Amino acid sequence: MPAAPALTLDVLNPATEEVLATVPAATAADVDAAVSRAARAQTAWAALAPADRARLLRRFAAVVDEHVEELARLEVREAGHTLGNARWEAGNVRDLLDYAAGGVERLTGRQIPVAGGLDVTFLEPLGVVGVIAPWNFPLPIAAWGTAPALAAGNAVLLKPAETTPLTALRLAELALEAGLPEGLFQVLPGHGPVAGDALVEHPGVAKIVFTGSTAVGRQVLAKGSALLKRVTLELGGKSPNIVFADADLRAAVDPFSFLDNAGQDCCARTRILVQESVYDEVAALLADALAAVVVGDPADEKTQMGPLISRRQLDRVRGYVPDDAPALRGSAPDGPGFWFPPTVLTGERPDSAAAREEIFGPVAVLLPFTDEQDAVRLANDTPYGLSGSVWTRDVGRALRVSRAVRAGNLSVNSHSSVRYSTPFGGFKQSGLGRELGPDALAAFTETKNVFLSTEA
Ligand code: NAD
Repeated sequence: MPAAPALTLDVLNPATEEVLATVPAATAADVDAAVSRAARAQTAWAALAPADRARLLRRFAAVVDEHVEELARLEVREAGHTLGNARWEAGNVRDLLDYAAGGVERLTGRQIPVAGGLDVTFLEPLGVVGVIAPWNFPLPIAAWGTAPALAAGNAVLLKPAETTPLTALRLAELALEAGLPEGLFQVLPGHGPVAGDALVEHPGVAKIVFTGSTAVGRQVLAKGSALLKRVTLELGGKSPNIVFADADLRAAVDPFSFLDNAGQDCCARTRILVQESVYDEVAALLADALAAVVVGDPADEKTQMGPLISRRQLDRVRGYVPDDAPALRGSAPDGPGFWFPPTVLTGERPDSAAAREEIFGPVAVLLPFTDEQDAVRLANDTPYGLSGSVWTRDVGRALRVSRAVRAGNLSVNSHSSVRYSTPFGGFKQSGLGRELGPDALAAFTETKNVFLSTEA
């Protein structure tokens, strides 16, 4: 029989392996009680004047802004993110709240021409929304779901990942400090198969926003759909970085396209596809770039890459990189902490496990292609479809390739993927539905059609 899950969660600093905090793990009964509180709070929240809801969300954004440094330092300690990244992530929560607040008074329905009366649509809140977040970007991903859901008039129950509950718990305190009603935004740290599953199975939760692995996402969808629950899924990726010979090669092979957050990034460009005529030049550039990456204490301003999140993740990454594998390698600290050096595998075939599976560590594969058609074929030879980059100075080719790659978020001559003002989500096994962007609030509503007769 599997051991019963622990009643508490130990939160480790992944750079030192020290226990930072121990927090209670929510049970199914805790989730049930939280749903009841959330439902009560939601009714009052949805009845508020839109301008007042917007004002409270802006106040929440302002309070987050006052605590960016504190949240960032907590993110560094519990998730091992570099300080620069963590500051950006805490600021992103503020920006998401501000952006969503701007949508509250613009959540308009439509007036549709019909015979015999007036037809209008309303975008009604769903009720209680469950947000299940992963450990790799605890702050931004929590806010991706939470900010638009609240703005659209819903209550939110956030279940952070087991390893990273602390910033989420702090956000819930800041929400209360900003004046959001009690019960409207609650954080339920806990085990996925217990607290996460209880949210998915609870009939009082109208929608689940899940970000995590494809394997768990599939289970969430199956259970949620049995209850006809609304489900969005943001899942894994194995994104290509397609580098044509005419590109600015140095910019194209920026190693942070796959090393950001120690590679624990669903959009990491972990398949570097390079036109064969510049393969050697690219390999040389990458070798120099990897050697220069500063890996170490994430709280040090000069550090560019921190540790992996856990021993489990470190063991997983190691499993893809045998010591004798042909590779370009940077360095990483020894001693306590979950360290792995920046690595580019050079001897992989396109069908090898390292070239196909999401490693979720600072590891990419370098693969050659012959021409545009071959590049698109290789780029699409994956069950995933989240992101990708196309590097070329030929505008026509950039557009052709961007349209041909089956992925939700492409960038040309850039490695950026995510902006709060543009839609984000995956094709194929990378997800279902879209988050962020101008339609983010609408995704947390049901359309209601009302016909008023003018003939009675
Ligand atoms: P995970 O699937 O193990 O866990 C994600 C969340 O689901 C956690 O909160 C976990 O507790 C919870 N969970 C686990 N089992 C559950 C269950 N049976 N029912 C309900 N909830 C459950 O993923 P992870 O290891 O935390 O995160 C890494 C994965 O997330 C990677 O595959 C990565 O690509 C993906 N990711 C995707 C995006 C995106 O936007 N597409 C963004 C970030 C991360």
